[in-house]
Amino acid sequence: MIDIHAHYDDDAFDCDRDELLTSLFAEKGVSAIINAGCNIETSLFSIKLAEKYPNVYAAVGFHPQEVLNFKEEDLNTIKSMLSHPKVVAVGEIGLDYHYGTEHKEEQKALFRKQLELAIEMDMPVVIHERDCVKDCLDIVFDYDVKGVFHAFSGSKETAKLLLDRGWYISFPGTVTFKNAKFPVENALFVPEDRILTETDAPYLTAHPFRGKRNDSSFMKYTLEKIAEIRGTDFEHIERITEENAKRLFGF
Ligand SMILES: [Zn+2]
Repeated sequence: MIDIHAHYDDDAFDCDRDELLTSLFAEKGVSAIINAGCNIETSLFSIKLAEKYPNVYAAVGFHPQEVLNFKEEDLNTIKSMLSHPKVVAVGEIGLDYHYGTEHKEEQKALFRKQLELAIEMDMPVVIHERDCVKDCLDIVFDYDVKGVFHAFSGSKETAKLLLDRGWYISFPGTVTFKNAKFPVENALFVPEDRILTETDAPYLTAHPFRGKRNDSSFMKYTLEKIAEIRGTDFEHIERITEENAKRLFGF
């Protein structure tokens, strides 16, 4: 299984990070993890993890909720990180209006700068979108960039707009939740060559461990659920999601 989006820099993992990552690769069927940065500090942490573990890769960038911490010179720092051999994407980047819209113009400007950087450096992007789907799509459709909407929670109609333009859709544990509607519809709707899976660890843990700290081993419940929805088996979903991740991120 490939986990295309996790945050092993989070302090939820301070007590057992190394043991956990070692066991995920050695015993829990995880073949690769992309650790996503949210600012300079966590992007650097992602690179450090990628240097330590052959199967960890890094995405680097500024999360929209970090917009007030962003300084213009940080863009050059991110750019230099993108040349690192284990950095595979710009992310996570995007828009987030969940806690209010008062900084939405700053978020949009930061988002555009990072999309432009991804194009300049020929890298895929990992998009975070929360409660702002229209504004987010208005921006991404201005750019000829490839990438994935991580922890996608939108409708089938939104998924179609993205798929038509070549985007990938990534499913976290929410597809296993009892009240899941859009994720279940999308797990059936998204074509085989565009599905990715992730944990967003330490968040979004799959049923039956919802609420517990997440890690990449719990992704098996997500893959099992997608297989069940699509009327196929776990091994098939595992194979196609691995192929898709390798194609998009180039590892
Ligand atoms: Zn994330």
